[in-house]
Amino acid sequence: MTHLPLTRRGFLGSLAAVSATAGLSLPLQAAETFSLGDGQIFALSDGTFDFPAQLWVGASDEEKAKLGEHVTIGANAYVYRRGERVFLIDAGAGNSSFITSRFQSVGRVPAELAMLGIAREDITDVVITHMHPDHVGGVIFDGERTFPNAKIHINAKEWEFWTRNGFATDAPEGMRDMVVSLQETAGMIEDAVVLQNGEADLGGVMMQPAFGHTPGHNVMMIDLGSERLLVLGDTVVSDHIHFENPSVGWALDADPAAAQATRRRLLDMAATDGLIVAANHVTAPGLGHVERAGDAYRFVPLG
Ligand SMILES: [Zn+2]
Repeated sequence: MTHLPLTRRGFLGSLAAVSATAGLSLPLQAAETFSLGDGQIFALSDGTFDFPAQLWVGASDEEKAKLGEHVTIGANAYVYRRGERVFLIDAGAGNSSFITSRFQSVGRVPAELAMLGIAREDITDVVITHMHPDHVGGVIFDGERTFPNAKIHINAKEWEFWTRNGFATDAPEGMRDMVVSLQETAGMIEDAVVLQNGEADLGGVMMQPAFGHTPGHNVMMIDLGSERLLVLGDTVVSDHIHFENPSVGWALDADPAAAQATRRRLLDMAATDGLIVAANHVTAPGLGHVERAGDAYRFVPLG
């Protein structure tokens, strides 16, 4: 029997080749519903991103070989319904010109909600892990508020960092377009924003500071009765490497040392407490458990 070795490198290489020849096609619908503990979680895929492997900073040669040249990562968001409240954890990228001129394979959150039968008007609370455009951009779609009835919960430190007067001109050049776009978005949602300081219990959804990736990055702990779910935001950015080697950095981390310490702390907590994790940048739906593997970890997707 012939065995065709399909290495991860080869597989990702073919994916990149396929997406390059297929043009701008968006991934197929991936929304899924999970009954977890005493609640239900709806996992939405906003699409995928392709990033060059060198953005995973400090990976060994062996780890780089496993990654391949380009890495496709998920872009997930999550909905949790509790009584009258409908929480959306992260809003996806939206379709601002900042996004569409750079990334054509994201912006699916509204379509995914529609496929699940959830009206945008029904979202009561949007909870933002951090204000990078792939997480907050989706609060605006086609130039209008995507979720007209929602409060938008953001950590105060995060909001102040990105909305500071003058930041659009004095930010490092490579960040300027992003800051301009974020400040436009912030201006359009300002009256819906509820700034949260420190730990904030939104009613079954707890915002918890987990700084490092950005100055006010938060993770969300969701109380599902017999289970707890931790939405990791950008604490991990890949299906493997950040679990298997939490010391590997991510080029977009604002404070690499703090990001690494946060990653280790949260992966340790997830493994010790048997939490279900929801990882925004793991292949959709990004739900699973964290197991210890030697002095590192392994992500085990929900079966
Ligand atoms: Zn992200």
